Amino acid sequence: MTREPLPPGSTIGILGGGQLGRMLAQAAAKLGFRACVLSPEPDSPAFAVSAAHICAAYDDAEALKRLAGEADVVTFEFENVSAQALALLEGAALVAPPRVALEVTQDRLAEKRFLDTLGLPTAPYATVENASALAGAAEALRGSADQDAFFLKLARQGYDGKGQFKIKSAEDISKAQAWLANTNAVLEQAVAFEMELSVVAVRGGDGAMLFYDVPQNIHRDGVLRESIVPAPIPESVRREAQSYARRIAGALDYVGVLAVELFLLRQEGGLRLLVNEIAPRVHNSGHWTLEACAVSQFENHIRAVAGWPLGATWRHSDARMVNLLGKDVEDALTLLREDPARSLHLYGKHEARDGRKMGHYVELRPAAVKPRM
Ligand code: AMP
Repeated sequence: MTREPLPPGSTIGILGGGQLGRMLAQAAAKLGFRACVLSPEPDSPAFAVSAAHICAAYDDAEALKRLAGEADVVTFEFENVSAQALALLEGAALVAPPRVALEVTQDRLAEKRFLDTLGLPTAPYATVENASALAGAAEALRGSADQDAFFLKLARQGYDGKGQFKIKSAEDISKAQAWLANTNAVLEQAVAFEMELSVVAVRGGDGAMLFYDVPQNIHRDGVLRESIVPAPIPESVRREAQSYARRIAGALDYVGVLAVELFLLRQEGGLRLLVNEIAPRVHNSGHWTLEACAVSQFENHIRAVAGWPLGATWRHSDARMVNLLGKDVEDALTLLREDPARSLHLYGKHEARDGRKMGHYVELRPAAVKPRM
C-alpha cells in the first residue's frame, strides 16, 4: 500500500482512548495533524489531548461512520475491534494497519495458526473447544513434556494477563474447567523461559521496515512492569527476534508499528526464541523510544499510517521503563526526586484502581555503545 502522503492538517482517526491513544494523539499533533479519538469512556486519557473526540461504543455504527467521515486515515490503539466495525470503517475510510492484522491477532487460535504457517515457533499448545475438552488437551500436551503447568487463555478478549487461567498442577484442571465453561481457548504449556523480550518495529506502505532495539520485559501477574534496553542478549538473538517480526509484518502486508512478544529459552542446544504474542499497534514495551530514540514508536506509527517517511529508530540512551500501576502513582514525585534522569508520563486517569496503568517513567543513561537499532 503506497499512497500519497497526507498533508499536515489532515485528521488521524484513532480507535481507543487509553494511554496508547493519548501518546498517538500527541505524536499526531506534533506533526501538525488533528487527532479524532473514538472511545466509550467519557474521561478517556486521549480525549484531553485530541483535537476532536467521539464518545461512543466501538460497535456504534453511526459513531464509526462519523469517525470515518472526519478522518483521512483510521488507526487503532487496541486490537479487539469487532469484524463488523472493521468492515464498516474499511468501507468508508483508509484503515491502517490492515484489517487482516487485527483479525489474526484478536483471536489467539488464529494467531497460533498464522505463526504455524510461517514456521515460527510458539509454546506447545492445544485447541480447547470448551471445558469438557480441557482434560484431553492437557493429556495430549503432557505427552510432549513432563509437566503439569499450563496457561489456559481465552481465544478472544484477553490482554494484560486477563482472560487467562494459570494451571499449576493436575488439581487445578477442574477449577479451570469451571472458569472456562463454554468458551473456546488455547491451552499452552508453561515454558521455563530465561527472559521475556519484544521486538517493536515499524513498516511503511512501501514495505520498508525499521526495528527498535530489543528490550527485556519483566512481567508480574501477566502485566508488564519494566522494559530494559539493552537486553542482556547476544547479537544473534536480537537479529533472530527482529527477523521473526519481519516475517510476521511481511505476511500481513502491515503498515504501522507492531510488536512481537517473545520468550527466550535456554535449552541444551543453546538459546531458543518462541513467539508469545503479536500486538498490531504501538506497545507498552516500546514507551522508552520516546526518550531514548531518534524517532519514537508513536511518531513512527503516525508517519507510517499517514504515508510519511519513517524516522530513524536508533537508540542514543540506555533506558529502563517502569509502569506505575494503581497506587504506585502516589510516589511519582519521590521517584523523580530520587533520580533526575527519570522522565515521567502520567495518563490523567482519575481512579488509581489496583493494577491499573496510571503512568510510567523512563530512566535514562547515556548509551555505553554506538547508537543501536
Ligand atoms: P500474554 O497475555 O499471553 O502475553 O501473557 C502474559 C504473561 O504471562 C507473559 O508475558 C508471561 O509472563 C506469562 N505467560 C503467558 N504464557 C506463558 C507460557 N506459555 N509460559 C510461561 N509464561 C507465560
